[in-house]
Amino acid sequence: MIRNNQIITGTISYLDEASNGVLLHGKDRIFVRHVLEKEKVKVQIVKKIKEGYSAKLIDIIEASKNRVKPECGIYEKCGSCQLMHISKEGQKERKIAHLKSLCKKAKNLNLKVVDVDTMQEPYHYRNKMIIGFQKDRKGQIQAGFYEEFTHNVIPYNRCLLHPTICDDIIQFIVQLMKKMHIEPYDEDKRRGLFRHVLIRYGMVSKEIMVVLVLNQQVFPARKAFVSELTKRYPQITTIVQNVNTRKTSVVLGDQERVLYGPGFINDALCGLQFHISSKSFYQINHEQCEVLYKKGIDLLKLKGNETILDAYCGIGTIGMYASKFVKQVIGVELNKDAIEDAKKNAKLNNIKNIRFICDDAGKFMQKMANKKEHLDVVILDPPRAGSSEVFISSLAKLNPKKVLYISCNPQTQMRDLQLFAKYGYRFKEIHGVDMFPNTFHTESIVCLFKENDKCKEIRRKQK
Ligand code: SAH
Repeated sequence: MIRNNQIITGTISYLDEASNGVLLHGKDRIFVRHVLEKEKVKVQIVKKIKEGYSAKLIDIIEASKNRVKPECGIYEKCGSCQLMHISKEGQKERKIAHLKSLCKKAKNLNLKVVDVDTMQEPYHYRNKMIIGFQKDRKGQIQAGFYEEFTHNVIPYNRCLLHPTICDDIIQFIVQLMKKMHIEPYDEDKRRGLFRHVLIRYGMVSKEIMVVLVLNQQVFPARKAFVSELTKRYPQITTIVQNVNTRKTSVVLGDQERVLYGPGFINDALCGLQFHISSKSFYQINHEQCEVLYKKGIDLLKLKGNETILDAYCGIGTIGMYASKFVKQVIGVELNKDAIEDAKKNAKLNNIKNIRFICDDAGKFMQKMANKKEHLDVVILDPPRAGSSEVFISSLAKLNPKKVLYISCNPQTQMRDLQLFAKYGYRFKEIHGVDMFPNTFHTESIVCLFKENDKCKEIRRKQK
């Protein structure tokens, strides 16, 4: 029987899907953060959890060759990064191992992991950041990240994943809040004005958007706040006030008012120009996004005469990039702000062979299948929850020859691939692109082909 606070020494057997180390103790599994496979460690039991026990690391008795000292001062507490104690090479190994273990679990799919493309300089890559505020015991305002599963803000000055200027802006906002007596929002009491600040940074354009998420419509110090902020940081090209009065952990509310500038930023991606507004999705790692899109389009080996669907298209980035290589593109996306951006972006880039539709991807696919429309290629890039049965079954009816499945959650991608396989799609390889260095997340791409009857015949004969 394992007790709380008990000290246990042992060797980490493996890392689980969330990169927690697993130490086997008799029949029990003990989960520890920030360790590596095969490391000998001393841990202290924190509590019983459903899967076993959680424990905190007390000492590393034998360290892995891949262990490095995390450069970040709040790494232990923060929880936003999980792999900063692992060298660049070690992180790559870890991400390949993670994809391999998912492929092994789905062994009927017979998928081979090709590689995980990693960044040379895996820091300061995030182009979007969300910061919360709180008061410490002395009443001083602190800016920081929300601790996992709690309402606590972990105070910070610098984040190694953010562009430095964005952290400077946050520190200045804290100063302005103090000077102008602006209260941070208290989630328990549901009082206070500033809930969050969201910053978007154009990696190429260097334009900056600041979104102030407030707990009410009225922002008394609005004019002075905007004037001081933009005077100090002229790099800020737009400021948006977003109102969120709901009891929710969702950051943005529905209502918005542009306080300064055009209400969007511009950025360039894959040689194209994009307008990005506050609520639209935009890949958070610019450099790796270009790697991802190029790899995806290469895998499709497009001929130029195809009609393609870009499902879950966001502001139309990959569809517009693909439009150069095909006859026409249809983009579908649920978020109406993103679709507005996408339409503007097509005009901005003078792309004539693309159109965008605001709809649920599954419903849209169903409608297309009912009308027996023609599609040669489908690109899908759904959110973490993956795609849906209705989307995949309707896609199967439309029978496109090729499908490119981009995912930010390989686990749900594997689930969906099972369904694609049932509908006769074949695929051999999964490619990883590390869009989120220092965290356990990986983006993955699989290119699927539909076998025609002739191919099936050949395969049958080969067997
Ligand atoms: N392909 C884009 C966006 C990918 S993120 C890019 O590379 O930037 C996933 C997108 O799916 C988000 O824009 C989200 O708003 C959208 N989305 C989520 N659920 C959806 C649904 N049911 N139907 C259509 N789009 C959806």
